Amino acid sequence: MGLKLFNTLSRSVQEVIPLDAGGKKVGLYCCGPTVYDFAHIGNWRTFIFGDLVRRYLDFKGYAVTQVMNITDVDDKIIRRVREMGTTLKEFTGKFEAAFFDDLKTLNCRQPDQTPRATEYIAEIISLIEKLLARGLAYQTPDGSVYFSIEKYRAGGSRYGQLVKLNFDEMRVGERVRSDEYEKEAVADFALWKARVPEDGGVFWPSPWGEGRPGWHIECSAMSMKLLGPSFDLHLGGEDLMFPHHEDEIAQSEGAGVQPPGRPFVKHWLHGAHLLVEGKKMSKSLGNFFTLRDLLAKGFTGREIRYLLLTAHYRETFNFTLEGLHGARAALTRIDECLTKLRELAGAAQGNVDSSLLSKFSNALDDDLNISGAWGAIFEWVRDTNRKLAENALSPAAAAAALATWDRLDSVLGVGAPKEVEVPAEITALVESRQAARKAKDFKRADALRGELKAKGWVIEDTPRGARAKRL
Ligand code: AMP
Ligand code: ZN
Repeated sequence: MGLKLFNTLSRSVQEVIPLDAGGKKVGLYCCGPTVYDFAHIGNWRTFIFGDLVRRYLDFKGYAVTQVMNITDVDDKIIRRVREMGTTLKEFTGKFEAAFFDDLKTLNCRQPDQTPRATEYIAEIISLIEKLLARGLAYQTPDGSVYFSIEKYRAGGSRYGQLVKLNFDEMRVGERVRSDEYEKEAVADFALWKARVPEDGGVFWPSPWGEGRPGWHIECSAMSMKLLGPSFDLHLGGEDLMFPHHEDEIAQSEGAGVQPPGRPFVKHWLHGAHLLVEGKKMSKSLGNFFTLRDLLAKGFTGREIRYLLLTAHYRETFNFTLEGLHGARAALTRIDECLTKLRELAGAAQGNVDSSLLSKFSNALDDDLNISGAWGAIFEWVRDTNRKLAENALSPAAAAAALATWDRLDSVLGVGAPKEVEVPAEITALVESRQAARKAKDFKRADALRGELKAKGWVIEDTPRGARAKRL
């Protein structure tokens, strides 16, 4: 079955049919982080959604090129650089490095390309030149360049493909310099912003004088340079539909670089937002979490990834700390089942269970119905546990189950480790307790068990001796 995803352009669920004549290559552009702070868990929900799309396309055998840009110059960044009295590179470098660390912690695949906007200034300038040459952009006396919505529409193009816009209120030629603005403020937007004193040292030379690019043109220039002028999938959070993505379409199609009849992007994907305890995250409400805040509370990347992967991408997700405890419990169930399967399988070999794989992929083909996919997995865990308890599985069947899990996990990436890693300190405590028991020092053995419990571990007796298990 083919993969179907909701396309914001058509407002309907549509099959993903690659533009590639061979039907194999897929270009996927994910709007990446603005590196002005540590990414928060809302951002991570969207990045993990991008990673899920990427991994599922890989699973289905497509040759994916995933590009995720790094926005390392925009209004917010410049404001912070000024406030902190630092340089652009020093400031963004720190958050960019943190972003890549976090990406690993959450087991997201490294995108094939992660271009920085500041390294694509030449491409940005050349795109703006094309728009000027086609009469769709104009220069203002201060040396800035704006996109003319009136001229674009007059040429028969549609502005407002992703969102409905009301042009009655629009005053022709009204301009907006800021990178982010509301739908009600539909206006000509900045492609190039002439240097102003507040920009400090952040500027580049251009045919229109010193200045810097607008945010939207950065993504148009980078995506078309790396994936071609017309590509398959473009993804971001729902807040990016307007103005960011709408402006990207206008600039990219306005430049007229696509082959006849081809759009800039065939399929637009938008993920719904994440709320915390039912409210929009904000520092003032005290419900704002970066990934690092959650790691400091003792949660792991796997647990956070699992939780963010439990809800459908088009549904608003309500994040809670209880949810993370639930994620821990769910992963423990999977881990325990896998550990038993590994013990039973030993060196045996087995083939994947195609009926489970097709249940899984039928669910994901249906607009990434992740609850259906998890449902199939937990039904399988239940069934496997029952068979294990009844000694009804052969080593080859256990090996087959493990091979199937590996295929599923290539998409989910919740990365059940082969063995639950036991820290050396815990192993030492288990050994001391065993020694105490052997010496019939039960008081000490109990004290050691208490100490292990306080650290979150229990001792489980197995045919191969005592071993530590997470509480
Ligand atoms: P930014 O770094 O602000 O450019 O955002 C990076 C990505 O995170 C974009 O795709 C945003 O749409 C997305 N995003 C921002 N806030 C949230 C949120 N609360 N929930 C989900 N995604 C978000
Ligand atoms: Zn973008």
